[in-house]
Amino acid sequence: MNLGVMTALLLLVLVPLSTCPQAEGVYELLGHDISLELDLDSHDLRATDVLSIGPAEGDGGQGKRAVENAGKGTVVFSLNSRLRIDSVKAGHKELEWRRLDYAKHANREGGGLVEIQIPPSLNGQEVSLRLSYHGELYEPLDSAEIPAATIMPEFVYLSPMGHWYADLPGGSLATFKVATTVPSGYEVVMHGRLREKKEEGKKTLFVWEADYPSDSCFLVAARYVVTHDVYDGIDIYTYFFPEEQELSESYIGATKRYLKMYEEMLGPYPFSKFAIVENLFPTGYGMPSYTLLGRDALKLPFIVHISLGHEVAHNWWGNSVFIHPDHGNWCEGLATYVADYHYKELINAGSAMEYRRNILRTYSNHITEETDFSLEGFTEGGVPRTDKAVRSVLYGKCAMVFHMLKTLVGPETFTKALKNVYKDRQWKQTSWTDFREIFEQTSGRDLDWFFKQWVFEKGAPRLELRGAAVEGPEKGGGYKVNFELSQDAPVYRLLVPVVLVTEDGKRHGHKLVMNSQRQSYSLSSESRPRALYVDPEFEVFRHLLPGETPPTLDKVLGEEGMLIVYPTEGDSSLIREYKAMSPGLKQHAPVKSDVEVTTNKRYLTHALFALGGPDNNLVVKGLLQFLPPSLKFEKDSFVFKGTKYDKEGMALAFCLSNPRNKDHGVCIFFGLSPEAVSAAGHKLTHYGKYSYVLFDNGTSVDKGVFPEGKNPLSAVF
Ligand SMILES: [Zn+2]
Repeated sequence: MNLGVMTALLLLVLVPLSTCPQAEGVYELLGHDISLELDLDSHDLRATDVLSIGPAEGDGGQGKRAVENAGKGTVVFSLNSRLRIDSVKAGHKELEWRRLDYAKHANREGGGLVEIQIPPSLNGQEVSLRLSYHGELYEPLDSAEIPAATIMPEFVYLSPMGHWYADLPGGSLATFKVATTVPSGYEVVMHGRLREKKEEGKKTLFVWEADYPSDSCFLVAARYVVTHDVYDGIDIYTYFFPEEQELSESYIGATKRYLKMYEEMLGPYPFSKFAIVENLFPTGYGMPSYTLLGRDALKLPFIVHISLGHEVAHNWWGNSVFIHPDHGNWCEGLATYVADYHYKELINAGSAMEYRRNILRTYSNHITEETDFSLEGFTEGGVPRTDKAVRSVLYGKCAMVFHMLKTLVGPETFTKALKNVYKDRQWKQTSWTDFREIFEQTSGRDLDWFFKQWVFEKGAPRLELRGAAVEGPEKGGGYKVNFELSQDAPVYRLLVPVVLVTEDGKRHGHKLVMNSQRQSYSLSSESRPRALYVDPEFEVFRHLLPGETPPTLDKVLGEEGMLIVYPTEGDSSLIREYKAMSPGLKQHAPVKSDVEVTTNKRYLTHALFALGGPDNNLVVKGLLQFLPPSLKFEKDSFVFKGTKYDKEGMALAFCLSNPRNKDHGVCIFFGLSPEAVSAAGHKLTHYGKYSYVLFDNGTSVDKGVFPEGKNPLSAVF
């Protein structure tokens, strides 16, 4: 199982493509009425889809379909090339159709294109096309990749990527009615409402209907045990296999709490049901009105406490207010802000601060000038969302943008504006500009500059504190603290929180407006000033300075020019394990031997990920004198935080600043046996936010973050 993907619980945004400018022969797809018969033993489906299409209108994205069918009196659909078309009709009239160049259009999932000739008499009208097709869709359960579509007795998994129904090549927003016949004992589930369930001999018919627009249809069927409950008129279901049945209660209970939370926060839940559906494949997908979770994920405690809530929140953000595919993606950051981040706020202010600090730290550690991008400019495809740099912007920065917006307009106005977005933009593709307009209307403020600097531009400011000094006591008593704040170009307009701590133990909070590269400030106090802290609670999205970021695995792994250094001395099976784990640490990172790095002195100033102990890795040997007293190497053992470890299964990852270049970090990872290295080595990247992790046979038994060095954004008087 790929934990990286699982923890991400990626929302399956099957990018809806906007309607095209009206042009002759350019259609949009309005609705599906599908009859589907599934034969599980032969892996076959037989389907008839009555497609409602109409002339496209409106503005927006120039989808592929405009290219495919403009002006030709034809409409082009994608449909799995393994499915054979039996007939295409409009009323009783058979229409001409052809498969387009197979080699050119087929992809791994078996996509293929069908071009249908629309009779001139029907051109420019709403038309019902009756498309009948059949074929086998099968990929075995143990296939290496998650299939796009497979039909078998254990499981029916028809994802939109499997092109099991006809769609416009650029996507569409359409209604779905799907009547599926399966053998008795199976349960069918998809988005929408269950209209009918009827036994017909040895078969069962399920009719699901979604009468609101959706960008896709994802249908699964299995021998599920269905548990049903109701909250505030909303049906809540779990579709679990018998083995996982005991988890049902906690999932249903948590769903009720999330629905209550978001209905109060944002407005009425947009659907009539929410279902948690177990998947035999390791996914964490969120679709309108349901989530599809892999069996192993279902059992992880954080799923029900965090990720499930995130998926429920997507029903407001992403599944009913849609993103605009040509204008970035706001829905991941907003779901993160109202879910993952909000749950920390509910614990306490410290947890929320820690979450914000982590966002800034991840961004500072992973993003470079080259990999940075603006929120408006993000497009699906290209770099995957699991990439840490991408996530640090798409989820992290975006959540911070909403946080700063809340600080700027005030929490009440913020909540009101979010409710307005939900009310005004439901079932519509929504861009950042729509957000700006609604927030401007609700707050009565000009927010153009805010969206420009945070959404339409990439990057983040880097703040510095200079020349902080105390003046006084003045004649009538009282003191002044004078200081200067500076930032790099381009200049950001910021509201910078500062805290002045005085001798009487009081903390005085101020919010300073900053809108130039260097600005002087003077704060007064009655009692003698003792310390000044700039943005101590990480309220401003910004690059952290070196002293603000203790060395962590993520910091080292994220640094430009980072080298992975494997050992050349000692046990060959140990060396083999170190080499084997290297590609998993960071893709395409240069991997070098200790001899090469120590010979070429300039390498020693890079960020280094050194594998092995001082006996077999020369780089680690060279670092011995810089190690803190808490870590000591001995023969076949080591002492860490006062405890001696000599068991073969033990391994440790330990970070420090590079003594030859303080801007970079070093991580030393070593294990006491090849098995220990292999078991812990493949998990290291899951512990990115820690400065050290101690493993026993691959299980972490101690981990933590070192305290920061001197904070460059503070002054003590
Ligand atoms: Zn999400």
